Amino acid sequence: MSFEQFNFHEPLRRALRRMEFEDPTPIQVQAIPPALEGRDVLGVAQTGTGKTAAFVLPSLQRLHADGARRRGPRMLVLAPTRELALQITDDTRQFAQYTDLRTAVIYGGAPLGRQTDQLRQGVDLVIATPGRLMDHMERRNVRLDDVQILVLDEADRMLDMGFLPDIESIVRRTPAERQTMLFSATMPSAIQALSYRFMKKPVRVEIDNARPPEAIRQQIYPVPKHLKQSLLIALLRQKDVESALVFTRTKRHADVVARKLRQAGVSVTEMHGGFSQKDRGQALDRFRSGKARVLVATNIAARGLDIDGISHVVNFDVPDEAEDYVHRIGRTARVQAHGVAWTLVSPDDEPQIMAIEYLLGEKIERVFLTGFEYAVPSPDWAKPSVKAILRSPSGPQGALSRWKSLTR
Ligand code: AMP
Repeated sequence: MSFEQFNFHEPLRRALRRMEFEDPTPIQVQAIPPALEGRDVLGVAQTGTGKTAAFVLPSLQRLHADGARRRGPRMLVLAPTRELALQITDDTRQFAQYTDLRTAVIYGGAPLGRQTDQLRQGVDLVIATPGRLMDHMERRNVRLDDVQILVLDEADRMLDMGFLPDIESIVRRTPAERQTMLFSATMPSAIQALSYRFMKKPVRVEIDNARPPEAIRQQIYPVPKHLKQSLLIALLRQKDVESALVFTRTKRHADVVARKLRQAGVSVTEMHGGFSQKDRGQALDRFRSGKARVLVATNIAARGLDIDGISHVVNFDVPDEAEDYVHRIGRTARVQAHGVAWTLVSPDDEPQIMAIEYLLGEKIERVFLTGFEYAVPSPDWAKPSVKAILRSPSGPQGALSRWKSLTR
């Protein structure tokens, strides 16, 4: 199957040739035909499947046919984070490079001035995070009366982040006669409810979400909790680890892991919800440009990132939700590449691993790193009791220095 069959206008075909897109991905095969007909589309797909092109290409086809008007936006895409908004904008501008359509990107954490100018000069497409778009609406910088196509991308993430009231206000300001497309990695009941309210007889398109691409090699490294950090360092030092995204459960863990990696001489950068937009952008740039080989991130910060060429994803902490495991490891092995996903698993994590394997419908391979010293006792087991310190033949000083040598 090729892109030819969609009969896109020449400027879009030219862009696809330039971008070396030859065959549509499964979500594109399913979503583009109904979207071209103007039907509502409910897509269950995560980042990395090619979903951006699935909603952008048919929309550009429709907007290009009507010509560039550059008044209020005729297409509005809502996305949860600045990073995702920027990625969608990059893709859209590439697809639209041979058309006259103009795209503005609107997100928080950046000055209002330039965004205001862009909106006031008139645009065809707006890609926005909900909070900042609300700001501009309240300042009357943008009207949504001309919106013909509305896209909610990573809708589950937007709900998790508390954007529902903003989304409702925004959708209310768009014309009822519009095409709506909603994409979500998961389909909890809150998203289904949203789709009933905002969409008319949507065509549901889905790619097998719970099954990660075959190109990802998944491995579990069983390891006692107190050795996770040193195992991580040993794993990242292996030659074939070109770039790695390391996930932690909490911001505090991300800080500690990044610090220890830095101390071990690994070039590392980090990103979590406690970072400003600017710092997140800088961390991402450092990682994308290869200045940092490792990016340590919490789940929230890393969701939806489109970073090409990550060779390894490492779950330093096992995710709480089995579905998050699939999202996380989806960061590696993008459309045509291959990747490796490692999960460091201590005995406490076994119940979560069982849930993940149940979701995947298969066991994940267990492996051990040869040459790694697994027998180092935990500092907690070795911690001497007060009695032992007092009775120690080398005296309290000797007992403590022995303990310190084990904890180092
Ligand atoms: P997405 O899921 O939209 O974030 O897309 C993931 C990556 O795959 C992006 O870098 C796209 O540029 C790329 N991509 C999407 N569709 C195709 C395709 N049909 N052929 C080649 N690359 C694609």
